[in-house]
Amino acid sequence: MEDCIFCKIAAGTIPSKKVYEDDECFAFHDISPQGPVHFLVIPKKHIRNIMETTPEDEPLLGRLLYRAQKLAVECGCGERGARFVINCKDNGGQTVDHLHIHVVGGRFMEWPPG
Ligand code: AMP
Ligand code: ZN
Repeated sequence: MEDCIFCKIAAGTIPSKKVYEDDECFAFHDISPQGPVHFLVIPKKHIRNIMETTPEDEPLLGRLLYRAQKLAVECGCGERGARFVINCKDNGGQTVDHLHIHVVGGRFMEWPPG
């Protein structure tokens, strides 16, 4: 999608610190990290948010989540764990309208969030 910052990051037209890439998935470090580890896993396909996915996206969603956990382990979070977060729309705190999974680790986090 033309005006989407994450589409541009996935296409390489806006620079990012890449963690991983394949045909349908891109992962990069968050520009404002909330922990020693904080990266985002996104589909290359422009999907606005988790609630705008369709049945055809179901396998893709599984692969994104699987990739998120693989990368979390590779980034050193395997032993102590990490938080996997998908913010959705205003009440969910979503600020970028391209589906993304936050992976935050390397420190203890309270629950529930503020
Ligand atoms: P959310 O609030 O769930 O929509 O998360 C959006 C995330 O994108 C925030 O954690 C931002 O810090 C991050 N972000 C925004 N712009 C960039 C960028 N150019 N490169 C990396 N991360 C970004
Ligand atoms: Zn997009």
